[in-house]
Amino acid sequence: MTGSRRAGELLAMEGSHPEHVISFGKSKGCYVSRGVAVLLGVFFVSGLVATGLLVYHYAPQERVGSQESLLVPRTPSTERRPVMTRRRTNPTKRPATTRANVTRKKPPSGTKTKTKTIITTTTTIPFTTTTTTTGEPFQEDIDVRLPNTLKPLHYLVKLQPLINGNFSILGYVEVEMEVLESTSNVTLHIADIITKNETIRVAPSGDLDGPGLRVIKHLYDHERQFYLAHLEEELQQGHKYVLSMEFTGYLNDQLHGFYRSTYRDADGTEKMLAVTQFQATDARRAFPCFDEPGLKATFEVYLARSTNMSSISNMPIIETIPVEDEEGWVWDHYDTSVPMSTYLVAFVVSDFAYLSTTTNNKTLFRVWARESALQQAKYSLQVGPAILTHFEDYFNQSYPLPKQDMIAIPDFSAGAMENWGLITYRETAMLYDSRVSAASNKQYVVAVVAHELAHQWFGNLVTPVWWTDLWLNEGFASYVEYIGINHAEPTWKVMEQFVLNEMHIVFSLDSLESSHPISIPVGHPDEISQIFDRISYAKGASIIRMMNHFLTEATFRKGLSNYLDAFKYENAEQDDLWRQLTTAAHQDDTLPQDLTVKTIMDTWTLQMGYPVIKVERSPDGTSATVSQERFLLVKEADSEDTHEYKWWVPLTYTVGDDPNFNETRAKVWMKDSETHITIPSLPTKDQWVIFNLQETGYYRVNYDQDNWNLLIQQLLADHRVINTINRAQIIDDAMNLAKAGQVAYDTALGVYNYLGKETEFVPWAAAINNLAYLKEMLARTGGYGALKNYLLDILVPLYDSVGFDDSRDDPLLDQYKRQKALSWACELEHPDCLQNAAAIYAHWMNNPENSSIISPNLKSTVYCHAIAEGSEKEWNFAWSQYLKSNVGSEKNGLLSAMGCTKQVWILSRYLEMAFSSDSGIRKQDAFRVFGAVAANEVGRPLAWSFLQDEWDAIFEFYGKAKSRLIKSVTSYFNTVQQLKELRLFRREHIEDLDSASRAIRQVIERTRINIAWMNGNYDVIVNWLDENGYSTKLSSA
Ligand SMILES: [Zn+2]
Repeated sequence: MTGSRRAGELLAMEGSHPEHVISFGKSKGCYVSRGVAVLLGVFFVSGLVATGLLVYHYAPQERVGSQESLLVPRTPSTERRPVMTRRRTNPTKRPATTRANVTRKKPPSGTKTKTKTIITTTTTIPFTTTTTTTGEPFQEDIDVRLPNTLKPLHYLVKLQPLINGNFSILGYVEVEMEVLESTSNVTLHIADIITKNETIRVAPSGDLDGPGLRVIKHLYDHERQFYLAHLEEELQQGHKYVLSMEFTGYLNDQLHGFYRSTYRDADGTEKMLAVTQFQATDARRAFPCFDEPGLKATFEVYLARSTNMSSISNMPIIETIPVEDEEGWVWDHYDTSVPMSTYLVAFVVSDFAYLSTTTNNKTLFRVWARESALQQAKYSLQVGPAILTHFEDYFNQSYPLPKQDMIAIPDFSAGAMENWGLITYRETAMLYDSRVSAASNKQYVVAVVAHELAHQWFGNLVTPVWWTDLWLNEGFASYVEYIGINHAEPTWKVMEQFVLNEMHIVFSLDSLESSHPISIPVGHPDEISQIFDRISYAKGASIIRMMNHFLTEATFRKGLSNYLDAFKYENAEQDDLWRQLTTAAHQDDTLPQDLTVKTIMDTWTLQMGYPVIKVERSPDGTSATVSQERFLLVKEADSEDTHEYKWWVPLTYTVGDDPNFNETRAKVWMKDSETHITIPSLPTKDQWVIFNLQETGYYRVNYDQDNWNLLIQQLLADHRVINTINRAQIIDDAMNLAKAGQVAYDTALGVYNYLGKETEFVPWAAAINNLAYLKEMLARTGGYGALKNYLLDILVPLYDSVGFDDSRDDPLLDQYKRQKALSWACELEHPDCLQNAAAIYAHWMNNPENSSIISPNLKSTVYCHAIAEGSEKEWNFAWSQYLKSNVGSEKNGLLSAMGCTKQVWILSRYLEMAFSSDSGIRKQDAFRVFGAVAANEVGRPLAWSFLQDEWDAIFEFYGKAKSRLIKSVTSYFNTVQQLKELRLFRREHIEDLDSASRAIRQVIERTRINIAWMNGNYDVIVNWLDENGYSTKLSSA
């Protein structure tokens, strides 16, 4: 899966994974999710008599018999709810669960009663006890894993989504299972589904028409989202049985499970489509299934559609047959799939159109979109097959399916999802129109396409045993996507961009005490959804890149290819990969025989954070003492974390009298048992040394003052002697070491002195990104004016050198450099920039049909600053263009820019619009509006008040806490008052913050760090500015 951020987007990715809208045990709100409430209404209105049970979220009623109406009102009282016992342990745990077992700390829950419910449909009294929590925190052990008694082999799934009807889904499922351990229970996952209990049958394979085994009890475990059929007799170990049932599901509007999306066609007619998003735990919303990644099976799918639509799924259609007795409906019957995990199953029913081609190896490749947007899919169709073919070669493993579909969905919560053979995208991640969209939008498209195609091997062919190893999926796809882009667009220098887009950003998150290890035990869906974060993606990608370099390219590819071959159609854990890579490394002699990849990589995956390597040279310079220490922005004196952080560090370095930045294999290994080592044979003290060549190691480097001075001198004398990536590294390390108090700001800002000669984008971007922190910290202080003048002195020469006129023929990184320079010059209110922006926008307002007036690369700057400096008129024009546009990235750009206005009432109205369903802003884009308002100096307090005041409504809107909203509005909090407000906010909403619990810890820590930084550095920066001619004081004479 890909998050919904990317190049050119301001918002962080954390929390941008699909909204796993699951609210286990929530005391808040309604027990029936909104979609289900609508469903109930629909059934009521249509008078449909359902004969099953509403499963999950449904009111904790004791239900008797299977013919009861669905419309039992929810009990307002909590007193008599049947409650399941806590601390249940599962006696039949499969081995893999040991790492995934969950201990969830529950906060004090006031006087609320937490309920866990099992509903039975027999007259026996449910096995329940009641616990009421009244204050003290308690530990809760919930094993959410399925019992290890049954293994699914094959599913037959038949679904008829009533897209243009009442949104119900008429379903039938048969699942053939092998019995691993004799049992009288069949337990599988189910959520927001109504089973028809009288249709539920369990029969031995091969005797499906026989009497079968009698189901004596149907049980529903809401907490675990289990359906359990209790049988009169045991299923025999080693035998195969088939469970079958009819059920009714619901096409929700929550962007998960099997859901509905809407759009207007070229005539303005509203159209509907039905689409799936299952990762991580939502296949169970579409059909009852064993919804764990380790339980692979083959799937045979039937989708019913009306004849004026079409359907797609993972495999090709083998026949289309009429639906009996239903005029205008047909069944599309799909070929049986390869063995795969449930989260990768996908269905789409739509009236979309497609373009197609075939790859070299004759795989049919199709791209689907709304008919009026189809031409925007041409770029994806160009790069997709090229990258697919390249990956076949790179992984040395053919793409196993006969076809690959990709489809752009108007409503989509993540960036994209790698469903096998049917990749789903949000429109901006797959569609690109060169006349309308910026170069960064184009890179976003090819990056996401490459990422999802990489998953076809890494994730789909070989799948993690459990979500603990999610990082393997996402880290690999996030790294290999750069290899894919580099193949499709070799002139873009994406391998240089990697450090900017991934490493520098995740370094910042991973320097908090509240970070987390990349490999983390998870169980509950709330926990699973939290690890679709930057640590899994960007740190995962960064340490895999490090491994690629210390193993060398040939060894890395050999190990990968062997791993994929050994585990194809099966599941694996990180240790399986380490073994294959170690074997390859020992064969190729790229690692010493007594050193394994596991030994090295465990120090990077099982503990959080990363080291700073301190290099201190001897007085004559010819040797250096190298030490390692965890890099933290602030070391808490009272930290409870007593773990001793040490890593296996691949040290690479080069020297001033013979610079060579290409040898990225470890020259020396620093062991995790070593705090200091000595590096001999360095040049004399007048020559610099640089460690971490091309920043391939996931660590920062600090030097003694003399070496820093040598580096500054070298940059001033001839910066090109130092590799471009290392120039960016030196800037980023220096500024972050200064932020953490490990290097003087005088030294860090001294590095900036050479920038007047810098022409490359990557070092410039590293420099500017790091200045953003100073700018944000000082924005509301008296020192800001002087800082602004300093920043303008750095930026204006760059602005002048790139010019306001854009050229799409320039190299990509030159286009990015111009985009960055202009956006900063305008942000710093450089008069020429603001005038240009206003003039071009005004020209466009006078010629609204002429879309070529503003170069796509400059749109974000022009829109934002024309609206910021303008009035209601400019804002309204942007809104009308937003409504009119047929291009997703253009709509995004306008949505972000409308958050730039300084008119408080417009910002307030805009926030309200974002979270209402009929405003014209899609639910998937609400975070963008919120983030834009929060990024605006005028809007931030407004957004923060809005989040506090409207928390319940926002929670309801998403069905969960959205960590990215909290992160975006608090990222620059730096006052004690703001910290108090944040803590109060956490206390008040602790019940709702399950899915954002880590995020809230992180933003509180970040705020504390910012406050500490202000206390320790504000005066330092102001003095430095004064001393360097940027006076912060007005003349008093
Ligand atoms: Zn992914």
